[in-house]
Amino acid sequence: KGKDPGIELVKQRLVDVKNKLMILSGKGGVGKSSLTNLISRTFAHVNVNQNFGVLDIDICGPSQPRMFGVLGEQVHQSGSGWSPVFIEENLSLMSIGFLLDSPDDAIIWRGPKKNGMIRQFLSEVNWESLDYLIIDSPPGTSDEHLSVSTYISSCDGKFGAVLISTPQEVSLLDVRKQISFCKKMNIPIIGVIENMSTFICPKCTTESKIFPNNSKDVNSTEQMCKDMDVNFLGQIPLDPRLTRCCDEGKNFIIEHEDSPTVIVLKEIVAKI
Ligand code: ADP
Repeated sequence: KGKDPGIELVKQRLVDVKNKLMILSGKGGVGKSSLTNLISRTFAHVNVNQNFGVLDIDICGPSQPRMFGVLGEQVHQSGSGWSPVFIEENLSLMSIGFLLDSPDDAIIWRGPKKNGMIRQFLSEVNWESLDYLIIDSPPGTSDEHLSVSTYISSCDGKFGAVLISTPQEVSLLDVRKQISFCKKMNIPIIGVIENMSTFICPKCTTESKIFPNNSKDVNSTEQMCKDMDVNFLGQIPLDPRLTRCCDEGKNFIIEHEDSPTVIVLKEIVAKI
């Protein structure tokens, strides 16, 4: 079997992209897309002299256009490829959502078509030079992850994965599978973020745990990280203001700059 010619195309296209970051989760609904959005926005806000790109290949539910407030935008094709949509001066987005006529279109795509789409996305978007390309991928480990990993691993520069979990045992179980996948594929794991760790009541400021942790003293995600020898990056609380900003396409990092959630996000991004 010959070498996929797409590999060389992707390598050439991403030659000026220093770091590639894949955001993974074992399950849907754990906040992968929201955190991809918030991590990217935090990066761009904190590092004004660096450039960031977000590539949304979550075929099952491309949510970045909505979360970035650019739903319905058109991507333009020029001689040098597809132009991403600019969110800030140093932050741009390319999403499968921009290209689908109907949001339900891609759900029935099979492996080869998905692989072709990913190859096209990685080789035809004109990002120019980026410090970070942040990739929002579908939940689980499927064809899409294999494709992305194969293409990106062949590129120069750094490549790493950030995993998102909730403290629930079912979610942690799936994250263990993701960790094994990354190890098998030789994708360096930057670390695991625990999302929806606690809920801080906006009225009485009491902090409650939503999901039962398996021990009173040890955080279950942190313990799993220790057991599997990966980095624990931190915990994001369940924050209704975050939900609202993501739903309305607003920049949570600016709207709630002094909130504990944004402070934690900045701490986490500094570790990536
Ligand atoms: P995934 O990409 O893993 O399927 P999403 O990012 O779409 O998950 O999140 C699912 C829902 O949970 C969304 O409505 C999102 O706004 C909400 N959500 C995610 N993380 C948080 C959080 N830390 N606080 C409040 N709401 C959250």
